[in-house]
Amino acid sequence: MEERGSPDGDLARSLEQGPEGPETPIQVVLRVRPMSAAELRRGQQSVLHCSGTRTLQVSPPGGGPEVAFRFGAVLDAARTQEDVFRACGVRRLGELALRGFSCTVFTFGQTGSGKTYTLTGPPPQGEGVPVPPSLAGIMQRTFAWLLDRVQHLGAPVTLRASYLEIYNEQVRDLLSLGSPRPLPVRWNKTQGFYVEQLRVVEFRSLEALMELLQIGLSRRRSSAHTLNQASSRSHALLTLYISHQTAQQMPPVDPGAPPVGGKLCFVDLAGSEKVAATGSRGELMLEANSINRSLLALGHCISLLLDPQRKQSHIPFRDSKLTKLLADSLGGRGVTLMVACVSPSAQCLPETLSTLRYASRAQRVTTRPQAPKSAVAKQPQRLETEMLQLQEENRRLQFQLDQMDSKASGLSGARVAWAQRNLYGMLQEFMLENERLRKEKSQLQNSQDLARNEQRILAQQVHALERRLLSASYRHQQGPGLTPPCPCLMAPAPPCHALPPVYSCPCCYICPLCRVPLAHWACLPRERHLPQVLDPEASGGRPPSARPPPWAPPCSPGSAKCPRERSHSDWTQTRVLAEMLMEEEVVPSAPPMPVRPPKTSPGLRGGAGVPNLAQRLEALRDQIGNSLRRGRSQPPCSEGARSPGQVLSPR
Ligand code: ADP
Ligand code: MG
Repeated sequence: MEERGSPDGDLARSLEQGPEGPETPIQVVLRVRPMSAAELRRGQQSVLHCSGTRTLQVSPPGGGPEVAFRFGAVLDAARTQEDVFRACGVRRLGELALRGFSCTVFTFGQTGSGKTYTLTGPPPQGEGVPVPPSLAGIMQRTFAWLLDRVQHLGAPVTLRASYLEIYNEQVRDLLSLGSPRPLPVRWNKTQGFYVEQLRVVEFRSLEALMELLQIGLSRRRSSAHTLNQASSRSHALLTLYISHQTAQQMPPVDPGAPPVGGKLCFVDLAGSEKVAATGSRGELMLEANSINRSLLALGHCISLLLDPQRKQSHIPFRDSKLTKLLADSLGGRGVTLMVACVSPSAQCLPETLSTLRYASRAQRVTTRPQAPKSAVAKQPQRLETEMLQLQEENRRLQFQLDQMDSKASGLSGARVAWAQRNLYGMLQEFMLENERLRKEKSQLQNSQDLARNEQRILAQQVHALERRLLSASYRHQQGPGLTPPCPCLMAPAPPCHALPPVYSCPCCYICPLCRVPLAHWACLPRERHLPQVLDPEASGGRPPSARPPPWAPPCSPGSAKCPRERSHSDWTQTRVLAEMLMEEEVVPSAPPMPVRPPKTSPGLRGGAGVPNLAQRLEALRDQIGNSLRRGRSQPPCSEGARSPGQVLSPR
């Protein structure tokens, strides 16, 4: 997209309104050359300052009032040749020429201000010494671009060139085969002003075109004077003609399409000069007067073109050859770019101000760009109009689309922002909740571990007490002194469980794991224990409640009383007690989250989770104590006043 306000952009916009649409102003670009070595040697000051890219400030020496001038672009001394080429928008002119328009680029300014340098670069330093590519001027750069562009068009285009100079009011053909001779300037209705018998050379390559340029430059009149060692003494016009071979290949509806044909003309004006300042004498003075006269005629035409009533007034284009040949570019159907060149030196200030005023007025001159009307140009014109209509429609649709896009993006943007806010809030809540649950879970896990540990300790205590109870009961039955040696000491029973034996008390008379009475002082394998215990026949057909519990001491073959008959209450008592202790599965509760650990002893902390177990443990201890006391004070087999209710009643 082109920068708004750039000559290229302005030109494009004005031209897009149609070949016969509104008037298009002449584009003016200002170039300030650097201070020359001679000027610096003489201690001259620069009076020009660029302000931004489009304004030039002039500060007169001695503190006079500052003056500002505004142009399409202002290029200061630091800008390169390439910068100038780009800023001038010459490629755009080339595109228009390819589409059939007549385009003109001309440099204007005081002698020695850099016009020729800007268009064609510095003069060659010697015979056959080429100009470095970085210093190539607008013309060489445009040639390279154009040849490349035409090569990529994919349709046959004929390119031709002519090169002439106006020297002392005579037109001379710089490409003539013989020595240049004056050529007449004619006029007709279709072509306007034209140079009769001007040699137009077809070329097919950049090299060929460059060669034509060099021929013309070498034949052009130049002289040395005080302000310029290679001062052009003529106005030079190099014109490129772009045409199509057949009418069928003409429509240039877009830049990629084959061009209609057109003209691109480069005009290097001779500089205006003060004869007193340049020190011109004799022939040089004649040349200077001629140059100045033609430039005066040009200025006069420009002044009249600025007149709003100009359509009714006569524009004296015929006053000079220069104005005749520039008539189309200035007031006709052409597209025109002026590059005004100035010197920054304080010594050149009057001429610089004159050039700046001239250029300022020129940019108010307008033309009505129009592709040449020929028999074959009618179709392209129709297509041109169609293309412009389509471009307009395209712009309108693009605008509508942009509006819709911006509305849609505004709406969806708000929705997305809302959703993001809410999602973010939810996410934060979830994270907090997660963290809380994770803490709770770890606390529950700790409580569970604690409770399991306590349960295990309690169970061990219960079993130890149980063994002591059974041992005491047995001793009570057998009487003191008849206690058989502990089976654990005599011959350890083979383990009936995978678990290691927990109980190692030598007074234990039951299998510590499966709790089967050790009738033969050895623990039977588990598979033999269970049938033995649960087998109804082995238990004499008694109901399970009447059977002695598995931990009942064996019925001694020599004893007077069968345990079934004489110690049933004892067994009932211990069975109930054991069932209470063993059958109850302790499931530790999970407190929500103890703020402080309960102040209980480590051994009883599980009591909070298993209240009955602790109570029962206490009852069991009492029971054992009672049992032992009874054993000491009563005969072994007397059942007396003992009752389970008494023993087991906890509190
Ligand atoms: P004009 O054509 O306006 O009379 P020239 O183009 O011949 O002036 O330039 C005069 C001198 O100044 C030349 O020696 C040229 O090389 C030098 N010159 C002009 N413009 C520049 C520039 N932008 N950078 C460096 N040298 C320049
Ligand atoms: Mg010059």
